[in-house]
Amino acid sequence: MSRKFKRTWRAVLAGAAVALLAGSVVATPVHASDKKNEAYNRIMKSDKMVWGVKGDTKLMGLMNIKTGKLEGFDVDMAKQITKRVNPKAKVELTQITSGTRIPMLLNGNIDAIIATMSITPDREKVVDFSKPYFNAGQAILVKKGSGIKDIYDLNKPGARILAVAGSTSAVVVKKFAPKAKVVALSDYATALTALKAGQGDALTTDNGILYGMAAGSKSLEVVGGPFTKEPYGVAMDENNPKLVRAVNKAIDDIKSDGTYAKLAKKWFAGVKGMDWKELAK
Ligand code: GLU
Repeated sequence: MSRKFKRTWRAVLAGAAVALLAGSVVATPVHASDKKNEAYNRIMKSDKMVWGVKGDTKLMGLMNIKTGKLEGFDVDMAKQITKRVNPKAKVELTQITSGTRIPMLLNGNIDAIIATMSITPDREKVVDFSKPYFNAGQAILVKKGSGIKDIYDLNKPGARILAVAGSTSAVVVKKFAPKAKVVALSDYATALTALKAGQGDALTTDNGILYGMAAGSKSLEVVGGPFTKEPYGVAMDENNPKLVRAVNKAIDDIKSDGTYAKLAKKWFAGVKGMDWKELAK
């Protein structure tokens, strides 16, 4: 099979896998890597590591329109991990969304994803994950004065919950509020605009992301506390054991040398609802 054809075929499989993953059904396993350690060798040879990061998620990965740069905890982690995987490598950042991140990885457009991405058994069938580097949990964001106290208040006909396509949140919320209508939008910026415009009763995703949104708007609040566990991992193409090992070692080093605590403080200190010291433990 030609390389180009393989890539195209992988893209089709990736799209199918993601469509099915969104519904929490597992597709035929996609084995993305053509060759063992392909991504790792590419990073070492090109002295460049290409990351998929969020551009719509304040605190974690956000496009700063003043500087034109992507910034956040995940973005800084990408830089720190790259340094430790290949000290000569430049960091290249590509903006992805919850829905595009797996196809982008399987297509070979990026070497790794660090984008508020929960490690789940379904996703582990199509990508490999590092060890967890951050603990989040799903929660809801509502307008102040809405009277909504937690996710269970939304379990009624007529309730509308906003989420983002390709996120675990959009699927999992149906278990907690099966009677509500879930509206899956393309990205968090769109979902936040929809919430502010009154197009939904709540927005659901991880607490950290929601605290970032609440910090930027006096009229919104996170209520009810987290109702799931969302451990974030770095996602990589399968069949790259060397890269997974190198990334895991980098995460260990980042934690043990104090870099992690520094980054947690930089991004989360003073953010209402977040305890950077607890996160850095
Ligand atoms: N952590 C969840 C996920 O991996 C929600 C955040 C996101 O959409 O990235 O899907």
